[in-house]
Amino acid sequence: MNDMALLVDLHKGALRQGPGGDAQTEQALQLAGVDRDQPLHIADIGCGTGASSLVLARLLNAHITAVDFLQDFLDVLQARARAQGLDDRIQSQCRTMDDLPFEEASLDVIWSEGAIYNIGFERGVREWARFLKPGGLLVVSEISWLTAAPPDELRGHWEKVYPEIDSPSAKLGLLERNGYAPQGYFALPDSCWLDNYYSPMEAGFGAFLERNGNSEAAQAIVAAERREIALYRRYRTHLGYGMYIARKCHPG
Ligand code: SAM
Repeated sequence: MNDMALLVDLHKGALRQGPGGDAQTEQALQLAGVDRDQPLHIADIGCGTGASSLVLARLLNAHITAVDFLQDFLDVLQARARAQGLDDRIQSQCRTMDDLPFEEASLDVIWSEGAIYNIGFERGVREWARFLKPGGLLVVSEISWLTAAPPDELRGHWEKVYPEIDSPSAKLGLLERNGYAPQGYFALPDSCWLDNYYSPMEAGFGAFLERNGNSEAAQAIVAAERREIALYRRYRTHLGYGMYIARKCHPG
């Protein structure tokens, strides 16, 4: 198995593939003041196995296009949607986030939890804006510093993994410069990382290694995840995931 297939194998059984929480998805909807009865077309970009799509489908009167470039994740999402009686509201599309299948100004909402970093926050918010109707809503979560001076070890690691990591004020400024009016920001609580993401992943390491014959490549993936988890546990007051909520400005 190559590294991508191993990563899919490690993550596809999980309820989510990054830090987040159903309550925080709902909190973002509340902060944005979304009318739950209004018919909406929503794109969930980098949807994984459907953590946020399923919450949005349950809470809103929405048609959701769930986009990911991994069909394995989309298959799990569709099975979960069927099991919850939400499959008539969610349609999946296997596409990359830099080649989205939407018409200009066709979406009421773009939602993306823990995924925009794959093309970079600035590029994502700039390129995706054209798909939103004027006044349309953008909700993205993004890894962010929680303090002005994160420790060197933490900064060194994350600046190598994701050079765009920055403060919430810098991210909000980027939104403003790219034609959005910020509506809100909050940092995800620790439980979104530890209870909802890292702990279930850690619990699966043994079975993952066994399934993959304890191969060197599988061991390397587990070691890298363990390093990231240890850094988070040590320095979590400095590092977080921000939920950024903004509306596309009307022209003129
Ligand atoms: N939103 C989900 C969640 O919160 O559980 C998944 C987050 S996971 C950290 C990032 C997701 O982005 C994965 O499902 C991955 O397959 C997807 N992804 C990565 N690069 C992508 C790309 N270029 N185009 C589309 N999806 C991509």
